[in-house]
Amino acid sequence: MNVIRASALGYCMGVRRAVSLALDAALSAPRVCVLGHLIHNPQALESLRERGIETIEHENELPRSLNDTAVIIRAHGIQPEVERRLERRGARMVDATCPRVKQSQIRARTLSEAGYQVFLAGEKQHGEVAGIHGYAPDCFIVENPAEAEYAARRLRREAPEKKAALIGQTTLSPEEYRAVARGIRAALPDLLVIDTICRATRERQAALHELCQAVDAVVVVGGRKSANTRRLFARVTDKPAWLVEDEADIPPETARYPVIGLSAGASTPDCVIDRVEYALRRVAAHGSDRGA
Ligand code: SF4
Repeated sequence: MNVIRASALGYCMGVRRAVSLALDAALSAPRVCVLGHLIHNPQALESLRERGIETIEHENELPRSLNDTAVIIRAHGIQPEVERRLERRGARMVDATCPRVKQSQIRARTLSEAGYQVFLAGEKQHGEVAGIHGYAPDCFIVENPAEAEYAARRLRREAPEKKAALIGQTTLSPEEYRAVARGIRAALPDLLVIDTICRATRERQAALHELCQAVDAVVVVGGRKSANTRRLFARVTDKPAWLVEDEADIPPETARYPVIGLSAGASTPDCVIDRVEYALRRVAAHGSDRGA
C-alpha cells in the first residue's frame, strides 16, 4: 500500500498560535485554564493537561477570585461580556482568539453599529458563532439557506429600509456560504456579503479534492468534535473514507486499497498524523495486526 498525504493538512495558523500562547502562559502563571476546549482533539487536550493546563467547561467552575490565574481565550473566541466578567474577578486574560475570528467579531460589531442587520451563517451551538454573536447581539444566526431566506423575508416585512450584511463561521465551505447568501438575496437582493471563510479551511478542502483524484480510499484524521474535521470528512463522497481520531481507529479493510489518501483537520497535531500514517503502512505490511 502507498499512503499519500494531502498537500495541506493538520494544524492551521490559529490553532498553532493558541497552543503556543497556552504553553507560554503555563510557564509564567501559577494556574492556567482554558474556557472550553482549546482544540477539538483528545490527544492534544491530554498533552495540555499533562503540562498543567486545565480545561474548564463554564466560567462558574472557576473560583470567585482569579488573581493567580491565567485564562486562555481559545482560537474560537468568546463573548466580550464573559471576558469582562473574568477580568473583574482578577484573571489575566490571554487572548488566543484566531486573528481571522477576531476580524469577524470586529466586523459583526462594526456592521451592527453602522445600522446593518447582520446575518451570521454557522452552527448555533459552535463556540465561534456564540462568540461572534456576543459582538452583535441582535444578529440573526442562520444554519442553512431555508432559515436564511425565512429570516430575510421577515426582515423585509418588518423593517424594509434596513440594510443587511452576511458574515459566516470561518470553517464553512464556500458552497454552503454561497447557498446561504442566495437564500437571503431571494428577499434582500442588496445583501452585503463579507468573505469570512478561512483560507486554511479552503486549502485543506481543495487539497483533499485533489488528493481524491489520485487515491483509492481516504483516511481523515481528527477529533470527532472538530467541526472542520467533520466537514473535511463529509466532502469525500466518491471514495471509501474513514474518520479516525488516532491509529487505534484504523479499520482493517484499509489494507484492501492500494493507495490511501491521508488528510487531517486543522486541530490535528502533527504527531497524531505521523502515527496514523505509520500504522496504515503497518496495516499494509501485516494485515490487521496493528499491535505495535
Ligand atoms: S481554521 Fe482558520 S479561522 Fe479557524 S483557527 Fe484555524 S486559521 Fe483561524
